[in-house]
Amino acid sequence: MSGAPAAQDLEENQTKSMRYTKIIGTLGPSSSDYETQKKLVEAGLNIARLNFSHGDHDMHLRNIESIRRIAKETGKSIAILQDLQGPKIRVGKLLGDQMTLTSGEVYELRFGTEQTDKNIIPIDYRGLIHDVSEGQRVMMDDGLLILQVQKVKSAGVDVKVLEGGLLKNRKGVNFPDSKLSLPAMTDKDSKDLLFGIANNVDYVALSFVQDPSDIRQIKAMIKALGSDVPVVAKIEKLPAIDKIDEIAELADGLMVARGDLGVEANVERVPILQRKIIDAAVKKGKPVIIATQMLESMITNSRASLAEIADVANGVLDGADCLMLSGEVASGKYPIKCVERMASIIEKVEAWTFKHNPRYSYLENPKTQDWEVNESVAISACEAAHAIDAKAIVCLTLTGSVAKSISKWRPQCPIFAISPRRDVANRLSLVWGVYGIPNPSFYNTDSLVQDLPQALKDLKVVDSDDVVVITAGIPINQMKPTNMVKINRIP
Ligand code: PEP
Repeated sequence: MSGAPAAQDLEENQTKSMRYTKIIGTLGPSSSDYETQKKLVEAGLNIARLNFSHGDHDMHLRNIESIRRIAKETGKSIAILQDLQGPKIRVGKLLGDQMTLTSGEVYELRFGTEQTDKNIIPIDYRGLIHDVSEGQRVMMDDGLLILQVQKVKSAGVDVKVLEGGLLKNRKGVNFPDSKLSLPAMTDKDSKDLLFGIANNVDYVALSFVQDPSDIRQIKAMIKALGSDVPVVAKIEKLPAIDKIDEIAELADGLMVARGDLGVEANVERVPILQRKIIDAAVKKGKPVIIATQMLESMITNSRASLAEIADVANGVLDGADCLMLSGEVASGKYPIKCVERMASIIEKVEAWTFKHNPRYSYLENPKTQDWEVNESVAISACEAAHAIDAKAIVCLTLTGSVAKSISKWRPQCPIFAISPRRDVANRLSLVWGVYGIPNPSFYNTDSLVQDLPQALKDLKVVDSDDVVVITAGIPINQMKPTNMVKINRIP
């Protein structure tokens, strides 16, 4: 095999057109078969999310195997994101599987799994009577139903319905005004994490992060399990907003989990909180995901609403690395159309931003952070790419860290990260503008660099006479950090 990335690795891998903001799709009943998943990848899916609030390990394993197969067949790097359920509180099994909550009526909330009395609603939260007080709100079903605590009793809590409606089995329950004594990870999360690590997921997302110590705890568990899988902190509780900088420092990425955040905070605050979370991630150079209801109406309609199109566009303008589809891909009628539509909106907005902001940029002055060799190389590569109008920046990278540093500067050409590690190539799928390419011949730098022009040509990323910027750590077989920027004209 030649030193350059195999054409098959590069081909298609590198997008129908160069899209910088990545797309995450949640796999579910509408997208659990190989054919649909392949079409999703062809439509532009970069990351497959496995939602561990649903399904069993057999189902998730089938999805992992199928996505890995598609990645191999298409030569694309596709990351698998395991989303742990976290300490989500849910309603138990109701008599007749549902009940109508009428405004003004009083019910009792009590710890339990099954309803035996129609006036008592079971929920799976043991600490209920210790953690809530009179006057606090209780939200159910993503905030559609609103109740208020009337009285805390020895076995349960009386709640009055403020805004009623239909309540179904297993719907989520939030206590936005209460400080709950929930663990960062449940027993289920620990078992699921073990499963995820055993099956080489590329990222683990931790739900309901409240405090930086939650990230320390899961990282300690991951280390103890002999893994270095990166952790995405899902920001969906208000206490996490107060400590967002510290959480961004410790985590490997952030997710603006707008569904639960909208219930925990006033939903009208979500757009501003979204900006705050993105800023915190960008400042620390960590990838950030915007999640939930991006193309919600496409769960049932083949067309997106104007407001949804604007929401996707604003996510790109806000500087997110990834936009996420949940029910749209997991259980909607048009999973493939949703990914196609999202990709198309992103491409249009990116073309506009590049035209109107014709220079690489970085929202914060990075010199306020530790200024390392990586950072100097990253800015030099972006300076050079801008000055010579390079068609691509190519990083030869062991860990992917230089590719992330370059991405932070938002250069106006794609970043191809060639790594000997497939897991590194996959993980870079989450990072703005970066396309990871695993290459086992990585250590033969000379032939890698020599064969690169033809490989990029095969990929249709460059033509003769185009210029590319290459970064590497030389001598490469001595595991040096990136210390070189080279400019190559394609013959
Ligand atoms: C959210 O609440 O927006 C979210 C992404 O989490 P989940 O889908 O697990 O509820």
